This record gives sequence, structure tokens and C-alpha cells, in this order.
Amino acid sequence: MSDIFISREAVENQLNIASGLNKGGDKKVCILTFGCQQNEADSELLSGICERAGYGETDNPKDADLILINTCAIREHAELKALSRTGQFKKLKEQNKDLLIGVCGCMAEQKERRDALMKSYPYVDFVFGTDRLYMLPEIIRNAKSAKKRSIYISDLPHNEFGVIAEGLPIRRNSNHKAKVSIMYGCDNFCTYCVVPYVRGRERSRESCNILSEVKALVDGGYKDIMLLGQNVNSYKGDISFPELLKRAGSMDGEYFLRFMTSHPKDASDELFEVIRDVPNVAKQFHLPVQSGNNRVLSAMNRRYTREKYLEKALKIKSLVPGITMTTDIICGFPTETEEEFLETVDIIKQVEFDMIFTFLYSPRPGTPAAKMEDQIPHEEKVRRFELLSSVQNDIADKLNEKYIGKTVRVLCDSSEHGECSGRTSGNKIVNFEGKAMVGTFADVEITSAGAYILKGKEKDEK
Ligand code: SAM
Ligand code: SF4
Repeated sequence: MSDIFISREAVENQLNIASGLNKGGDKKVCILTFGCQQNEADSELLSGICERAGYGETDNPKDADLILINTCAIREHAELKALSRTGQFKKLKEQNKDLLIGVCGCMAEQKERRDALMKSYPYVDFVFGTDRLYMLPEIIRNAKSAKKRSIYISDLPHNEFGVIAEGLPIRRNSNHKAKVSIMYGCDNFCTYCVVPYVRGRERSRESCNILSEVKALVDGGYKDIMLLGQNVNSYKGDISFPELLKRAGSMDGEYFLRFMTSHPKDASDELFEVIRDVPNVAKQFHLPVQSGNNRVLSAMNRRYTREKYLEKALKIKSLVPGITMTTDIICGFPTETEEEFLETVDIIKQVEFDMIFTFLYSPRPGTPAAKMEDQIPHEEKVRRFELLSSVQNDIADKLNEKYIGKTVRVLCDSSEHGECSGRTSGNKIVNFEGKAMVGTFADVEITSAGAYILKGKEKDEK
């Protein structure tokens, strides 16, 4: 596996190039991020590299000297959003020919998408793939000097590409919440999913690098730290994932340590015990089920059965009473019958999730499911989606009602004129009256509850 690690010299070389790019430091970068938390984490890294290269940050593309569009390919809707945004920059480029525009992320890894992008948006200067982020300084330097458009992409097949570059700077969006990528890529090849093709092979960082990053964050006052990975609990570094979680959650001080996303096949008893026993490990578990029917799960290549999923989900709920359970569900996977769909409705009722993230199945070019016969019509997907949502709303209402009268510990995310908002260890949103400052903990008595938000009053405020 050592070939996946980018050498220290190569990383330093890139950082040296960055330092020489804009000596005055008066330039600005605007980074637009689409998609998942992994993309958000990647954008913080791109931003850190840009900071080293003398670029301040702006939210307004009109003020930018460099625009980076970090794309998502998980569903067609995400792709269309990124394309339509890219289309809006034609005028800016006409007004400022020195403006640099780059496209990166998952769409950049798909040949057809990349080619179409270069053709339809001739003012895009460069495109770079998910394992070329660390090369951004070189990419910018080349774009500034050569007047030629470039593509930076691995020439290896999708199940072989993917690197890990340590030591890159990160410019974080928050002073109290941070994401730490611990593994990248995916080897599971669920039949509907594009991730293994665009994120490359599954690979894990060494635990010492992860733990020193977490330690620096805890020492720096971060209170909500999320370990990230496409299948975070499939981490295969030098120690096991439960051990890593235990060590990352056992540093001095009070903080929430979250992890996302877990694959059911690697959800072990050892992991459940760490969630139960380590106070800083958040009492929250996101465990995507996708479907409650065994034939569909097998057609999806999910590698677990309904029974196995139920056993694990109910076990963690009994070991950690009150844990917040959430899941992902795909509505209208090709060939899914009404009876099979009703088994998904049933599993939701049995587990009683706090929240479900439901997605209409979106055919992804190149994946096996996109070629399956019996694609489900859009209206039918929407009908199933709506049924799931209404069942789930009732469950969430009932679960959240139990919080009324209880006191919960909340990490404050916003605070203005006595109106605060934050999240519990279980990641429940709590709006409350109080004087808590952003990034501090408050004890809040819950006075009312809806399906998605709890409301209350800070304890000392009575
Ligand atoms: N690795 C995680 C797992 O196995 O559960 C999920 C990561 S994926 C980036 C996030 C979610 O997107 C999936 O759980 C799935 O529900 C959804 N998703 C992936 N491909 C999809 C597709 N083609 N159509 C609709 N939803 C999709
Ligand atoms: Fe996609 Fe499946 Fe990998 Fe999750 S495990 S990222 S759904 S292929």
C-alpha cells in the first residue's frame, strides 16, 4: 500500500510552488462546493493550499481571481447544479481575462463528463481529479503561464487510483467544528453508486497522523470533530477503527467526536462498545440501510441482509439507550416492487430512526444498476418517497416528544440577541433561549419538540 502515499518531498515541492505564486498576497479565491462532507473537507484543504498561495477567500465569484468548482456526481441533480453554476461564469471571464476557473471533484473523474465540460465551457482553464488536489499549486502555476487548458487526472483504472498526501494546510470554515478525513475511496461497488469510480480505491491514513490532527484540534478549542470516510468504519490503518475512535475520543477536555458514514457490514460489537463507553464519542450512529428487502439488497450488492442489519441496529439501540439513529434510503431502485418497498417501510418502523435521508434513485452512467431493465418511473419514486417521509415524520415526532422536560447538553453553533441554536451529542438540533456563546456547551431544558427541532431554555437562564 506504500505506493499510495505521496512523498514528503513531493508535498513540500507543491507548497514551495504555492509560496511563490502571489508574493503580494492580494488575490482572492472563491470555492463552490457541491455534495457530501468529503467534498466540504476537500474544499477546506483546497482553501488552505490557496491561502499558502496568497489567496484570501471570498464567497462572491465577482471578487475572485480564482474560482474553483468542487463537483459531486452522486446523483444527476447534483451534477446539473454544478454545471449550471459553471455556466454563470462566462461573463466574468469575458470581463476579466486573468480570472482562472478550475473544476474538480467527482465529476472531473468521469471521462464523458469531463469532455463535455471542456467542450461546453471553453472558459474553464483546468480540470483536476479527486487525487490531484495536492497538486493545486502546480496546476495554478501552469494555468498562469501556459495559455493552454489542462486536465490533471490519474491514468490508472478506477480501482487502482487514489493517493494520500499528508502535511497539506487546511483553512477551516469554523472555529469550533472540524472534519478529519481518515480514509478515502471505496471498494464496495454497490450497483447504483458512482463513488468507487470517482474516488478510487479504499485507502486509510496512518493513525499517528489522524490522532495528531485530532489532538491539535482539541488543543485549539474545537468542540465538534467528525472523522470522515466513504465507509469510515471500514478504516484499515495500523489500528482498528474502534481503537482509533477510542483514542481520538479519549483526549483531555469535553468535545463531541462524530464519525460518518458507517457501512453495516463493518459495524462490530467492539465499535458499539466504544460508542457506549467513551463519553466524548457522540451518541449518534448513521447506518445507511438503503432497502429493507433482501432481494433488493442483493441486487444493490450491499453485502448484508435485512436480518443482519436489524440485528445490528437494534443491538446498538439497546446498548446505548437514547442514541440517535439515522439512515439513508434509496427510493425506486430498478426492479423494486411495491411489496419489496413496503419491507423498507417496515424496517423504518422497526428500528425507529430519528431521521432518514431518502433519495430518489438516480441512474449513474457506467454503473450496473443504470443498465437494469425495469427502471421505476419518476412519479412512482416520488410516491414512495412521500410515503416514507410521512411514516418517518410520525416516528420522529414520537421520539422527540420524549425529550420534553429533560435537560440536554448542547454545543452552541449560533447565538444572537438571546436566541441560540446548537446540537446535542446525538446531533439533534436545539433552538433555545440563552446566553451561550458560539463554541461553548450549555445545559438546555427542552420545552417543546417537533420532528426535526427541539426547543428549550438554557438552564441557568431561569
Ligand atoms: N458509503 C455510504 C454507504 O455505503 O452507505 C454512502 C455514501 S454515498 C456518498 C451517500 C448516499 O447517497 C448513499 O447512502 C445512497 O443512499 C445515496 N446514493 C448513492 N448513489 C445513489 C444513486 N445512484 N441514486 C440515489 N441515491 C444514491
Ligand atoms: Fe457507494 Fe456503496 Fe461505496 Fe457507499 S459503499 S460509497 S454506497 S459503493
